[in-house]
Amino acid sequence: MNIARLKSDPEIFYSLQGEGAQVGTPAVFLRLAGCNLSCTWCDTKHSWGAGLELPVADVARRLQEYTCRHLVITGGEPLLQQAELEQLLELLPPDYVVEVETNGTVEPSRALRQRVDWWNVSPKLRHSGNDAGAALCFDALETFAEMPNVWFKFVVQGEADWRDIDALELPLHQIMLMPCAATRAELAAARPAVAEMCLQHGVRLGERLHLVLWDTKKGV
Ligand code: SF4
Repeated sequence: MNIARLKSDPEIFYSLQGEGAQVGTPAVFLRLAGCNLSCTWCDTKHSWGAGLELPVADVARRLQEYTCRHLVITGGEPLLQQAELEQLLELLPPDYVVEVETNGTVEPSRALRQRVDWWNVSPKLRHSGNDAGAALCFDALETFAEMPNVWFKFVVQGEADWRDIDALELPLHQIMLMPCAATRAELAAARPAVAEMCLQHGVRLGERLHLVLWDTKKGV
């Protein structure tokens, strides 16, 4: 499977989950290479290109070198490698808690739906710079909306974004809004307005703990 490269190493690391409902949870992160979108503000552009091709069994072995049994699979867009992900999760012991972070453009397979514990689905809005036809896949979002273990995380720049979010008709109790920010300072400046949006629309405020703790540092 194709793993994002951080310098010369595959991007597998131990940290705290920075976003989503499991924020603050110690986790091993596996970042897969390749994405089908190209968000202008993407903070993991290094994952877009060719990564390191590793056998699935090798990835499973590397993950199990950590004692932590909470795995976050991220990207890039991890669901571009569904077959490899299914193989990987079959190789890991069943006590692993598995989260997948996806942009919501690819429907997850039945096998992944059955095995993954938490889905962090982050559909991209107009300000991402993607063509709306590519960024929003309504069939995939409908599938995710029928699953109870999904959070829809929207990066927002302001109230104008709500109209596009509302039009998707997703369950409000599974929506969280996160400020669009690339640095700790930008996050602090943007958060109050997003908190107001959350109060107004009755949805959850999403944290970006990795920016709070580590600012722009990669691989943490
Ligand atoms: S979908 Fe995610 S990984 Fe892909 S370009 Fe957008 S922010 Fe980056």
